[in-house]
Amino acid sequence: MKKILIGTHNRGKFKEIAHLISKKYKKLSPISLKIKSPKETGKTFISNSRLKVKFFSKFVDYAVISDDSGLCIEALNNRPGIYSARLAKKYGSFHKAMQIILKQMKTKKNRNAVFVSSLSYKNKNGKITSVEAKLKGKISYKILGKNGFGYDPIFIPLKNSFTFGQMKKNKKIKMDHRFLAFAKLKKKIKIL
Ligand code: IMP
Repeated sequence: MKKILIGTHNRGKFKEIAHLISKKYKKLSPISLKIKSPKETGKTFISNSRLKVKFFSKFVDYAVISDDSGLCIEALNNRPGIYSARLAKKYGSFHKAMQIILKQMKTKKNRNAVFVSSLSYKNKNGKITSVEAKLKGKISYKILGKNGFGYDPIFIPLKNSFTFGQMKKNKKIKMDHRFLAFAKLKKKIKIL
């Protein structure tokens, strides 16, 4: 069976990416292989996803896929953006980070936001392919729902009235930013 390392320590992301990749692949995680995360020194989602895929591929001789993603809120100058995970770390939890965001959004009329995902894939010969996709939505007024992970309970995807946190997992993973990025990636490499 062909192997692929899904280069993320985030269990929510791991599950979503694993679900998108064909059943023909054995999906491995850096957690089970005891590989740490690299420092995210890039200034864009794409540079960070490339940096991650390069880092993780040093440890294996098969294909690697990595995602860098985050929530960009228009009224907050597109923050937290690439700092989405770091914001939660800074405040101790995603719940706290979401509370802070909602407080900052209290006076804002514009609640437009996008979830961004950049996926980078490195094949076993070292060729890297990168893509980026965005999903538009709005920031809710409250933390709503217990499904998903990260900022799911404050993001309402366009044309929906519920947050990702209130949505069934199967619905979210067929429409979110990673799903859109994966569709772009599959067009380019046609093997996953
Ligand atoms: P990183 O790509 O490891 O820097 O982490 C991205 C962070 O963005 C995650 O830890 C989440 O906070 C957030 N994020 C990315 N995708 C999603 C999603 O689908 N739902 C909720 N939060 C997300």
